[in-house]
Order: sequence, then structure tokens, then C-alpha cells
Amino acid sequence: MSEVETKPAVLILLGPPGAGKGTQARMLEERFGLVQLSTGDMLRAAVAAGTPAGLAAKAVMEAGGLVSDEIVLGILRERLAAPDLKAGVILDGFPRTAGQAEALDKLLAYNGQRVTAAISLEVDDEAMIARVAGRYTCAACGEGYHDQFKLPAVAGTCDKCGGTEFKRRADDNAETARARLEAYHAQTAPLIAHYGRLGVLETIDAMDSIDAVASGLGSIVQRVSA
Ligand code: ADP
Ligand code: ADP
Ligand code: ZN
Repeated sequence: MSEVETKPAVLILLGPPGAGKGTQARMLEERFGLVQLSTGDMLRAAVAAGTPAGLAAKAVMEAGGLVSDEIVLGILRERLAAPDLKAGVILDGFPRTAGQAEALDKLLAYNGQRVTAAISLEVDDEAMIARVAGRYTCAACGEGYHDQFKLPAVAGTCDKCGGTEFKRRADDNAETARARLEAYHAQTAPLIAHYGRLGVLETIDAMDSIDAVASGLGSIVQRVSA
């Protein structure tokens, strides 16, 4: 049996907190069979499990700062080596610093791969604060909701799994959100130019509705993975 070897797509979703990276990554998973890798989710799991990485990351996350490259790369490396990534990955919230971007480029080059596309989700700073402040998720399946912009079809019941318990993140308050936004502008926004230089940058207007952004992203994914 001969099979054509295709390299799995490596897609990056870049954007400030609240841009819609997590929401869109989950939709892309369902539509294209890609696997979402969220360093924020991995770090929250490490904090909850009380691992050494989690203990070191906790206070930084609560203050809205960026966790050290060393810790983030340690956590992500393990996951990138897993065998379930054949169809490709969506990196959600990684890389966030120049050091992380360079480490990723090297890690991929070592495997004969490169970033397929880095997609910048562009939103106004004020919209980002409102999105973060109204965000909550299903405690059972992690589906994301919003007080104004994305309500479950039946109040109090998750559309995806029927769960009735929801949770909010401790760092999703207006004050911490501002610190996170500053970290984004200072350390993450410069990566847009990095991916521009590599010729893999795509941008999308993330002020649009969730469905409109999903449709724009879907077209980009189809084009870059063709
Ligand atoms: P990120 O992962 O970039 O931090 P999320 O995907 O968690 O962002 O979205 C933040 C909040 O805004 C969530 O409550 C989500 O339901 C909501 N949201 C996401 N995309 C949009 C959109 N295009 N318009 C309005 N609200 C949105
Ligand atoms: P959001 O997209 O809403 O900013 P995330 O879940 O991606 O939220 O991240 C939550 C927090 O976890 C960040 O504020 C930061 O402290 C930490 N974090 C997540 N990813 C990274 C990363 N790649 N580098 C450094 N810190 C990270
Ligand atoms: Zn659910």
C-alpha cells in the first residue's frame, strides 16, 4: 500500500486575550480534524494538578503576566511529540514571545516542517476587555460562552454536552485583562512582523461575528493546506 506523505499543517492563532482564539480553534477542530493545543489550558491543568511547572506559573497567571519561556516550552514539547497530531495542529496562545517563536521554528525545522500559517485575529482593545469580562465555559466539556455574545440555546444548559455547571476564570476580570493586554502589545504583537517576514502571515477581522470569523478562517485553512 502506498500512501502520499503529507506534512501535518501547523497553524498559529495570534491575537490578544478575548480575540476568539479558543472559540475558533474548537470550531476548526470539528471542521478539519485538527488538534487544538492551548498553552493556557495546559498551564491551567498544571496549576490544578500542582505540578512544579504549575506552582511556578500560578502567581504570574493570576497577575496577567507571561509565564517563562522555559516552563511553556517544557509543557508544549511533551504535547507536540504525541502521536495524535497527524492531521495537524492549531496553536492557540502560543507562541507569545520572540523566544517561543524561535524555539518553535527550530523544533519544526528539526522535523523537516515549518509553520503553515500564522493567522492574526484583529480586535479593538475595548472589545477585548468586554469579551474577557463576559466569558464563561462549560465545566464538563469546556465549551466557551459569553454573557452577551454567545448564550446557550437553553438557558443554563450547555449546547454541546447538556452540562449545567459553568465556570469563570479568575484572571478574567477587567484589571487583570488590562495587564494581559499590555503583555500582548509588548511581547506578542511583534510576532506579527516575524511571520510576515517568513511569508506565512494571514490576518482576519475578528470584530465580526463568531460565524463570520469562522467562515473567513475556514477559507484560509483550505487555501493554505491545499
Ligand atoms: P481567546 O481564546 O482569544 O482568549 P475566546 O475564544 O475565549 O478568546 O473568546 C472570548 C470571549 O468572547 C468568549 O466568551 C467568546 O464566547 C466570545 N467571543 C469569541 N469570538 C467572538 C466574536 N467574534 N464576537 C463576539 N464574541 C466573541
Ligand atoms: P487568553 O487567550 O485569554 O489570554 P490563555 O488561556 O491563552 O488566555 O492564557 C492565560 C494565561 O496563561 C496568560 O495570561 C499567561 O499568564 C499564561 N500563558 C498562556 N500561554 C502562554 C505562553 N505561550 N507564554 C507565556 N504565558 C502563557
Ligand atoms: Zn458542555
